[in-house]
Amino acid sequence: MIVVLKHNINADEKAFVREFLESRGFKIKEIVGEEETIFGAVGIVGLDKREVEVLPGVSNVIPITKPYKLVSREFKKDDTIIQVGPIKIGGNRVVTMAGPCSVESREQILETAHMVKESGAVILRGGAFKPRTSPYAFQGLGEEGLKYLKLAGEATGMPVITEIVSITHGDMMKEYVDILQIGTRNMQNFELLKIVGGLGKPVMLKRGYAATIEEMLMAAEYLAAHGCDEIMFCERGIRTFETYTRNTLDLSAIPVVKKLSHFPIIVDPSHATGIREKVSPMALAAVAAGADGIIVEVHPEPEKALSDGPQSLYPVMFEKLMRDIQALAPVLNKEVSRLPDKVSPVQVLPKQKDASVKGTKVAFQGERGAFSEKAIIRYFENGAEPVACTEFRDVFESVLTGKTDLGIVPLENSLGGSIHQNFDLLLQYPDIKIIGEQKIRIVHNLIVVPGTQLKDIKRVYSHPQGLAQCAKFLEDYPQWHKVAYYDTAGSVAMIAREKLKENAAIASEEAAVFYKMEILKNSIETNAQNYTRFAVIAPLAVEDVKNPQKASLVFAILDKPGALYHGLKVLSENDINMTKLESRPIPGQPWEYMFYVDVQVPDDITKFHSCMEKLKKETDHLRVLGMYRV
Ligand code: PEP
Ligand code: MN
Repeated sequence: MIVVLKHNINADEKAFVREFLESRGFKIKEIVGEEETIFGAVGIVGLDKREVEVLPGVSNVIPITKPYKLVSREFKKDDTIIQVGPIKIGGNRVVTMAGPCSVESREQILETAHMVKESGAVILRGGAFKPRTSPYAFQGLGEEGLKYLKLAGEATGMPVITEIVSITHGDMMKEYVDILQIGTRNMQNFELLKIVGGLGKPVMLKRGYAATIEEMLMAAEYLAAHGCDEIMFCERGIRTFETYTRNTLDLSAIPVVKKLSHFPIIVDPSHATGIREKVSPMALAAVAAGADGIIVEVHPEPEKALSDGPQSLYPVMFEKLMRDIQALAPVLNKEVSRLPDKVSPVQVLPKQKDASVKGTKVAFQGERGAFSEKAIIRYFENGAEPVACTEFRDVFESVLTGKTDLGIVPLENSLGGSIHQNFDLLLQYPDIKIIGEQKIRIVHNLIVVPGTQLKDIKRVYSHPQGLAQCAKFLEDYPQWHKVAYYDTAGSVAMIAREKLKENAAIASEEAAVFYKMEILKNSIETNAQNYTRFAVIAPLAVEDVKNPQKASLVFAILDKPGALYHGLKVLSENDINMTKLESRPIPGQPWEYMFYVDVQVPDDITKFHSCMEKLKKETDHLRVLGMYRV
């Protein structure tokens, strides 16, 4: 049962409730939230919930109806996110674990680790104790293999996962491994589960090849009951009457487990199919079905592999699979987890006018001289180094992988409205947050090759927005051919390359200066009230902004009458001022919407946090995109 404690419960009352439950044979797990604290009480004895409800300090008692308790969604509504080194597993992410079936030698694991990392794997797999069907098959290198695995993990920055097979190995394995794997044959080895649950490490529990989903959830409950709160499930195929593939991959386990449990689920298409060319299609299907990640066997020379060669991918096949996952993830609104090149060095945040901001690399979309670059210059007061990217998504990727420290993206224009692509990207990248905003006035200029006169011009190039925003000025020159270009600054770069007096461009003053072109007419935009608001984005690991004034939130609403009203009512009742509300369709779910809300953060930030806890209950998938100064 879940015992919700009153907000103002005192220490004596809390101790009393705990003792009472323990005296009745319950095991207690305390979960402290911003707003309320709960005791997850798990026991075999029946207890009338009213006996607990009357205790001082208890707010209410919610029974858990499932046979598994701690792992159930009833116990915890939100997805559990497991942090392993720099990688998060769960939530809106797809993680890829890859490596050989077995660690065979120091060289083999090092070579494979570098290869899979290069293609985008973030966790390294490799068995050292191999449970093999035949006692004559290669049994693994044992502790020596663990040493090589750890070495390869350290050399590449990847956390490592390997299987534990014996209750006597716990303490030894703890030293080498980041995630412990329980293999299919041991899913119901309850003595092993009890020991592994208490080791203080994340555990990946593979589904028994003849186990039901409920049996897997019950097995996970053993881990949880013995202290483990970082569990991943792994669907690796079950035994059916089909013999073509090694096992039958039960993809439907993914949505089922996601509904019944708050823990993430990983899919192993290698052991599921046993056939190399079936691995990638099933990996993609698993991602499409909502898996939180995949674990794939890759070997530099599969024909020489000491175990599971026929199902091991060649490195080129793995590389192609990773590219396909990159293309698929945005459709599902997910971020593909990446290993950061380095831990972000940005400690002192911009606008604090600190010299150490100098040299901060900031990604933007467009050519040099773009309005986004101008926003960087304005925000960082010349202290940053702008890095040009082709697409908005590249800006997010650049921040996520640590290629640049920060990024900047336009969110809305006062005339043109929201730049929806960037709102969608903010949703897709849960490991990125907003740390600042910059508004700039958009001033358009007619830019020409030096020495050009108005009468020389035949064509004028700009982004369609640039042309549209200068329509009134352009009406006076009907003889000019207006040509849409992909980028305002790019159009200046083009006329600078061609050096023709008959070409003109419409762009910022900065672009004219950068490409050494001349401004023939300035401020030619129809409406002078033309502003664009940019968001400065950073990896989650960057320190939070001190004394934030504004927060950007996003949430979906529950499917019930008045749902949006109830959400907004929470803001109103907590005296939080809303400054923007906008809805966006949820990709792939027609006629369902996410709501983007900007609010002012009160001086007493605890009020904001407690308001968010309340809002969480009235909405779905609430995320604070960032808190920042304006
Ligand atoms: C493995 O992942 O190395 C393995 C042996 O898998 P399974 O337990 O699923 O057969
Ligand atoms: Mn294997």
